[in-house]
Amino acid sequence: MAVHLNKGRVGTDVCGPVTERLRLKGRVAMVTGGSRGIGAAMARGLAEAGAEVVIVSRQGAEEGEAIAEELRGIGAKNSFALLADVTKRATLDAAVDETVNRLGKLDIMVANAGIGIDVNAEDMTEDQWDRLMDVNLKGVFFSAQAAARHMIPRGRGNIIVTSSLSAFVANGNPQACYNASKAGVNMLVRCLAYEWARHDIRVNAIAPGYIMTDILGPYLEEFPEEAHGYMIRPAAMNRIGTPDELAGAAVFLASDASSYMTGQCMVIDGGYSLTPLENRLL
Ligand code: NAP
Repeated sequence: MAVHLNKGRVGTDVCGPVTERLRLKGRVAMVTGGSRGIGAAMARGLAEAGAEVVIVSRQGAEEGEAIAEELRGIGAKNSFALLADVTKRATLDAAVDETVNRLGKLDIMVANAGIGIDVNAEDMTEDQWDRLMDVNLKGVFFSAQAAARHMIPRGRGNIIVTSSLSAFVANGNPQACYNASKAGVNMLVRCLAYEWARHDIRVNAIAPGYIMTDILGPYLEEFPEEAHGYMIRPAAMNRIGTPDELAGAAVFLASDASSYMTGQCMVIDGGYSLTPLENRLL
């Protein structure tokens, strides 16, 4: 992106109506954890805005391919799905290489894959800690790194990370490790944004509150009252969100409409983080 000084006003070559700047026509995106839930909704949003999208998941080959087929159906004709485990650095590099070989480049990396493990802090095993941190923190770092190795020589790129409301609040669950992983992700976003700004690579995060995905569905059905107590009641909007409600933020962050924004975390939580602490206690 060229920066110009025009009659005392600093500007860039990003211009035109904001509705145009939101368009992602011609861009190539990769979404880790794109085979379902939040990642699939973000992938749909990026494709609707015009991007070709590569769906990455670890084991759900059919799930991933079904989403890719859906994206091809809405116009992202070169979209495809790949299996890669974000805890394995070499497989991430291979996924980026395959994307560049097939689609010519990678403009947008959405490092979204994440897992949760609910266990009281005093009972958490070393294996559980390592498994969670490997996906949620190491996986995000190496997804960003694999993308940046391709983006740095091009002198442009955009990285979006899925953080969580739980990076900011002790969310009422036995999730110390998960919450720490997401707080770590937020600091990674700030550091990577700072390091890579000179290469015109922006790095931002989206921090969702409780969102209806496969992670939450069964729990809501099995323990409706308890789930209502800590997922719904504390949110000022008095409901949980849907994955679709995050897609607009992903498109905004991926697009030139957010061209001066980097190192930030957008909290999208129905007002959960506005709520007085006592309303969050079970
Ligand atoms: P989900 O429905 O369980 O989907 C998780 C996705 O990540 C799947 O595509 C899964 O595919 C993939 N994945 C898991 N481990 C992987 C690995 N090692 N390598 C590659 N892909 C992997 O979860 P979700 O609710 O959409 O969550 C997505 C992100 O949002 C996570 O980072 C989560 O922490 C965050 N988040 C969720 C909520 C919420 O309320 N749902 C709130 C805040 C933040 P495979 O099963 O095939 O591996």
